[in-house]
Amino acid sequence: GATAPILSVNNIEVIYDHVILVLKGVSLEVPEGGITALLGANGAGKTTTLKAISNLLRAERGEVTKGSITYRGEQVDSMTPSELVRRGVIQVMEGRHCFEHLTIEENLLTGAYTRKDGWSAVKESLEMVYHYFPRLRERRGSQAGYTSGGEQQMCAVGRALMANPRVILLDEPSMGLAPQLVEEIFEIVRQLNAEQNVSFLLAEQNTNIALKYAKFGYILENGRVVMEGDAAELRENEDVKEFYLGIA
Ligand code: ATP
Repeated sequence: GATAPILSVNNIEVIYDHVILVLKGVSLEVPEGGITALLGANGAGKTTTLKAISNLLRAERGEVTKGSITYRGEQVDSMTPSELVRRGVIQVMEGRHCFEHLTIEENLLTGAYTRKDGWSAVKESLEMVYHYFPRLRERRGSQAGYTSGGEQQMCAVGRALMANPRVILLDEPSMGLAPQLVEEIFEIVRQLNAEQNVSFLLAEQNTNIALKYAKFGYILENGRVVMEGDAAELRENEDVKEFYLGIA
């Protein structure tokens, strides 16, 4: 049976700077407990979709001008990013964005800033992060700026986990990483999804890897969803093979 969506994006339009129409009516659903891929080439509108959900568009002079977004049945379009974080909607930005001058552990702790459940709960989350990312435990005292790209990506995901997320919007985790590290990170995403009941909406240009780990995928082209389906179906689809699977 179909699980109720934790997130649904209903026909949203996004405009930057009052004139640049970037999303032209995007609809998608993230089922509770699933991994859902948002695919498409550079510039298709993946990041914009994630930022529309987490309400981070305003800083970029963008706004949702049509449509609506619901999270666990509640309309969230007008919530601030930190209200969304408190409710469990966390975005991991493309390009990782760790605080270079803080240690890995300090970076992780910044992820807990909205929590009100006390130090021992935060400590438990930190242990949970180190359990899934043993490399971060090893590097806990290192300045993030001196760690590898893969470790910084792990740090960015770990920091999101520190906020007690129910859904993580993960933007291009494979970017700039060696294939083996990409697999390692996706493998951890799979475990987090299965064991911690975190749902994922995963924006990826790397169609191969995303469809290997996701259950369902949407393909964006030029601000529109042009195809959607089970990951297994998409992998077998001739157009997907020709236009997306060859490249990444
Ligand atoms: P990428 O992989 O590069 O992140 P994407 O699929 O995530 O690609 P977006 O970053 O959402 O695509 O960009 C979609 C379109 O919106 C692009 O044409 C981009 O130039 C445009 N765009 C993004 N941010 C802005 C902005 N702040 N102002 C104007 N246009 C923007």
